[in-house]
Amino acid sequence: VTNWHHPQFHAYYPTANTFPSILADMLSDAIGCIGFSWIASPACTELETVMMDWLAKALGLPDHFLFPAGGGSGGSGGGGVIQGSASEATLVIFLSARNLAIQRLQAQQPEAQQQPSLALSRLVAYASDQSHSSVERAAMLAFVQLRKLPTDGKRSLRGDTLARAVAEDRARGLEPILLITTLGTTNSCAFDNLAELGEVCQSEGLWCHVDAAYAGASLICPEYRHIANGIELADSFNFNPGKWLQITFDCSALWLKDSSKVVDTFNVDPLYLQHEFSGQVPDYRIWFVLRSYGIEGLQSYIRKHIRLAKQFEELVTADDRFEIVEEVVFGLGANAPSRELYRCIREDGRIHLIASEFEASDTFFIRFAVCSEFCEAADIRYAYDVISELANEVLSKK
Ligand code: PLP
Repeated sequence: VTNWHHPQFHAYYPTANTFPSILADMLSDAIGCIGFSWIASPACTELETVMMDWLAKALGLPDHFLFPAGGGSGGSGGGGVIQGSASEATLVIFLSARNLAIQRLQAQQPEAQQQPSLALSRLVAYASDQSHSSVERAAMLAFVQLRKLPTDGKRSLRGDTLARAVAEDRARGLEPILLITTLGTTNSCAFDNLAELGEVCQSEGLWCHVDAAYAGASLICPEYRHIANGIELADSFNFNPGKWLQITFDCSALWLKDSSKVVDTFNVDPLYLQHEFSGQVPDYRIWFVLRSYGIEGLQSYIRKHIRLAKQFEELVTADDRFEIVEEVVFGLGANAPSRELYRCIREDGRIHLIASEFEASDTFFIRFAVCSEFCEAADIRYAYDVISELANEVLSKK
């Protein structure tokens, strides 16, 4: 078993497991309620609706992502729904954007009604070259072309790059439908310029989806909300409480400005139209964790991880054998272009890290994430000491 909750686990990303969340899972299993429609077990839907609104408010998301006053999601208002993973959320968005676009093109082009593939072949979506592999997979599964756009010096996708790509594609007869923008990339926690991109999406009629799988949790701290400047221009927003917000895996929160776009895509039985969107499964974990930790408890957890990442950055910056390859904003940093050092760290086994690369510049780097709830300053120092000792060995062999 790879112990993801060990204080010396610094690979991938944090994945939460907290006692309130585990208890909630047990309660949920014990009740064993099935919530495929509101009427099947009203408390499931009601609780998920209330939790998603609480969570949206805790993150400071725009009001248009909240359920309409009075609850429920029957109409075209906003609302949130829990998915298993960010990959699922992206796929749901792809399929919904595709559905809307095909309906629009079929209305314009009668021949496409007989042959939906005519419309499908024209659709194109965009993401940056730093986006998570799940974006490429969702595009593949939805049979929608994906253009991966180059980023600037800070690995951020900019508005003018998107605007140019859209203009080129329209000139080629394609139909741009969707942008998946990332806040906190998997490689190095870089941020797309949402304010610029949101404006382009609005003027070009593109669905703007925000993938903030890891970094979205930081919005619970008001001082980090600047990373989401432009969020009011987004049509949908997703982050994983199961990564960095103390809810056990799996739990991914997806909000929509207009929930009917998803409801209409996935509904096949009009009988269920009214309640289908809100809640497929009972989910008490968000409730238990919010009640146990409180917003302040979650804020101090996020702030502690960021402090620890800064401590690691300071240690590495003071050591001229290493180089920081990306600005350390949250609990993820990257250092030292050395495949040999990485091999030694993996073989040694005292700490656990993974490597990554920026393909465009052929830069290999070792990635350091603060993961465990129980990670303390001494664990960061320990990790640095292990890396330093192994770096000495690698350098002395050279
Ligand atoms: N998007 C980003 C930016 C990620 O960092 C990740 C995972 O690390 C994902 C999507 C995929 O998340 P999930 O495992 O929940 O599908």
